[in-house]
Amino acid sequence: MIAIVGAGLAGLSTAFHLKGAPYRLFEKEKEAGGLCRSYQMDGFTFDLTGHLLHFRQAAIKSLVEGLLARRLERHVRRSFIYSHRTYTEYPFQVNTYGLPPDVVRECLLGFIATLTKPSHKEQVQPELQSFKAWILDNLGEGMAKHFMVPFNEKFWQVSLDELTSDWVSWLVPKPDLKDVVNGALGIKEKAFGYNPSFLYPAQGGIEALPKAFLPSLREIAYGTELIEVETGRKRATFADGRVVDYDRLVSTIPVPELVRRCTDLPQDLREAAAGLRCVSVYSVNLGVSRERLSDKHWIYFSEPEYPFYRAGFPMNFSPALGPPGCSSLYVEISHRPEEATQPAEVLRQVRSGLERAGIFRPDDDILVADVRDIRYAYVLFDKHRAKVLPALLAELKRRDIHSIGRYGRWEHTSMEDAIDQGRKLAELLNQSGHATSHAPGRTRRRGRTPATNQP
Ligand SMILES: Cc1cc2nc3c(=O)[nH]c(=O)nc-3n(C[C@H](O)[C@H](O)[C@H](O)COP(=O)(O)OP(=O)(O)OC[C@H]3O[C@@H](n4cnc5c(N)ncnc54)[C@H](O)[C@@H]3O)c2cc1C
Repeated sequence: MIAIVGAGLAGLSTAFHLKGAPYRLFEKEKEAGGLCRSYQMDGFTFDLTGHLLHFRQAAIKSLVEGLLARRLERHVRRSFIYSHRTYTEYPFQVNTYGLPPDVVRECLLGFIATLTKPSHKEQVQPELQSFKAWILDNLGEGMAKHFMVPFNEKFWQVSLDELTSDWVSWLVPKPDLKDVVNGALGIKEKAFGYNPSFLYPAQGGIEALPKAFLPSLREIAYGTELIEVETGRKRATFADGRVVDYDRLVSTIPVPELVRRCTDLPQDLREAAAGLRCVSVYSVNLGVSRERLSDKHWIYFSEPEYPFYRAGFPMNFSPALGPPGCSSLYVEISHRPEEATQPAEVLRQVRSGLERAGIFRPDDDILVADVRDIRYAYVLFDKHRAKVLPALLAELKRRDIHSIGRYGRWEHTSMEDAIDQGRKLAELLNQSGHATSHAPGRTRRRGRTPATNQP
């Protein structure tokens, strides 16, 4: 029996793609979707910050389009950066037009200097080069000073010298000189970045996507938190007392949480997993009694006078997410996992930041406000991760534990990737004969005799 832990997109996709193999899907929450859940408050539908679909793989795109047939809408991105009291288009490196002339000049000269610097020609291993060095080498001092460093330090909550650059290739586009010059002069020739357009459900928020998997799946055991794994005996114990014997364990929970729950892993692996770092995010959702607070989809903020790094306007891409005549916003604030701010204080900071940015007026009426803490939001790519993660995942796999998904693989990946990882793993398990050769696993309650396979 294949035990799948976590009914986010990675777990759902694994179950969806298993062809006849006996599996059980366990989820600690009362519903499926993980980070892709949506919720309703006083007529507004909120996601856990923005969750927009962009695809690089035709197979996943057509799977999602099939699951959400005629329910997806395409939007051309309207994303901006607000700095120096000016809106410029995202990404910064090819859109400096409109900023104060001395800022544009510093950005241009700095970029040109990167093209002639000797170190630029050397190939540096990305897991050894710091993110800060990558920015300076590839974008130059001006762009580093005026956007990349302040934005990323606000986002990551650590010095960029501590981060490696092995994650940047698809998220931070490296332009050529012509693009940078065009961007400084306001000439537009092409779209940049990984998401120049995106898809989003017309109704119901992003939760429409995980929900679309459910009719094809067996029953999910909700409210079952994995608390212990004996990897040698292949036995998983859940908080409700369920004890499950498995052949393979597919875990989509954060890998440090998984390793902490494994009772028989060597101490060095446990310490390695405990040292993996991430940043947490306050997801602040607001419903406001004024129409069209902004004409944009989302805005990045690099300057310290704004406590948030991004604010988005979901009703600009799905008007059904709130009542007519209103607007909704999601606002994202990074924080270190060990640091906590009371929700009332978070809201106070958000309100005053939005007023300073001219998005809120002092008399704007907030109808609904909700603050949620996403404990595991963005994984920190640092030297420790580069050093320990491959061995950690390999050892788990050797023990028939497949740790997948954004936090299972401890990486910076998208909804598409979570679905893809579930699909690829299921195909592997299908091929390895799990579809037919294994008896359904035993499930029992702690302290009771083995009884039933039902989750
Ligand atoms: C702020 C933010 C914005 C994002 N925006 C986008 C975007 O615009 N576009 C995009 O493509 N991607 C976006 N992502 C990434 C996207 O959310 C993830 O890639 C995807 O949801 C990961 O799915 P998953 O199944 O790997 O993990 P998760 O969604 O985290 O699922 C893991 C599941 O495991 C469950 N679980 C945890 N512990 C246990 C336990 N002990 N026992 C049982 N169950 C457990 C959880 O409840 C959860 O349901 C964003 C992420 C964040 C943080």
